Amino acid sequence: MLNNRSRSDTAVYIHTGNGEKCYAMNKQPTVPETFPIYLSSAYIMDSVETIDAICEGKEDGYGYFRVGNPNADATSEILAAADGAENGLVFASGMAAITTAIQTFVKPGDHIIASPIIYGEAFYFLKYELKRWGVETTFVDFNKEDVKNYIRPNTTLIYGETIANPSMSVPDIQYLADTAHENSAKLFIDNTFATPVIAKPLKFGADLVIYSATKYLGGHDDLVGGAVTGPADLVDKIRFMLGLYGSNLGATESWLLSRSLRTLPLRVRKMSENGLALAKYLEAHPKVEKVYYPGLSSSPSKELADQQFEGNGYGGMLSVNFRGGQEMIDKLIRNLKLIRFVPTLAGVGTTLTYPARASHRDLNKDELAAIGITMGQIRLSSGLEEADDLISDFDQALDNL
Ligand SMILES: *Cc1c(COP(=O)(O)O)cnc(C)c1O
Repeated sequence: MLNNRSRSDTAVYIHTGNGEKCYAMNKQPTVPETFPIYLSSAYIMDSVETIDAICEGKEDGYGYFRVGNPNADATSEILAAADGAENGLVFASGMAAITTAIQTFVKPGDHIIASPIIYGEAFYFLKYELKRWGVETTFVDFNKEDVKNYIRPNTTLIYGETIANPSMSVPDIQYLADTAHENSAKLFIDNTFATPVIAKPLKFGADLVIYSATKYLGGHDDLVGGAVTGPADLVDKIRFMLGLYGSNLGATESWLLSRSLRTLPLRVRKMSENGLALAKYLEAHPKVEKVYYPGLSSSPSKELADQQFEGNGYGGMLSVNFRGGQEMIDKLIRNLKLIRFVPTLAGVGTTLTYPARASHRDLNKDELAAIGITMGQIRLSSGLEEADDLISDFDQALDNL
């Protein structure tokens, strides 16, 4: 039975102790329509020659899961294609992608310029954790100040987000990339809020695109993951660090992510339509002070969004400042029936979060004020419902405040 074995077959040996020995062979007679989940931490090597060929990249194949596996590769390839990138990698979380990618390219004595309007833990990582390793970060609001004025001879990285949270401001990616490259620095862009459907930062000169796959890419609130896409030489350097730090994504999560990517364009377009409908409705509501959404004509970011976005809308994320404080927001959350308070974003259902007490709760009062977070502010993530149902829910909740 074992004589016919080839490397693509799986054999399971069980010796139950009563003299029975069993080999279960798994030959695949036809090709499955959906890519299977490969829950195998390692791969069989026919010979020493085989392991040499695989490790030296002369032959395709896998050895040990952490440094490479079929589900992670299949998923990375889909995402890289969507971004127009040569290559990609998936990670255990968005923070694993951010920290691994940054640590691959900075060393003690380096200087980073980052927007202060970035994901709370990315901010914390740059400001406190990297400082422990001798890397200093200057925070510069890309929409208010000229990043050129902050470049130093040791600046190696500029870091920002395509759509910054909670102001939903859009930076001039080409300008940031040109400034970085004139100084032999790199530009990393967190494209989580935009996804490749809304924007492709590599087109505008970004060196690397980073994602929390937990959000739109996964899109169903059932997985935590991260990703990077970019040119093969940069991605290969990060791949080595991913293996070293062990920040790889599991097979099941990789598979879930590849499943979700198949519907990404449909989901993001619908969420963008709902985002715009909610933004327009809320902007006109008397209990609302201000709405931040790059698709509104009142948004200072609309022009840059129109220049850089793909024409599939402006995304599903908006921030809303109400005429009230924490007490009013608490009442609003209790009144809403369809829209729930969930401290994440980009699932199929419309959700809201309260940045001052959720994503940005580690920031002090001054830091909150500097990036425009108030106690009367919620952040909305529009889902796949009908826009009319969402607007009715807000209508009843706001009427009963
Ligand atoms: C959620 C998020 C992250 C962090 O991702 P995790 O998957 O939670 O680690 C990074 N950047 C942005 C913009 C996010 O929304």
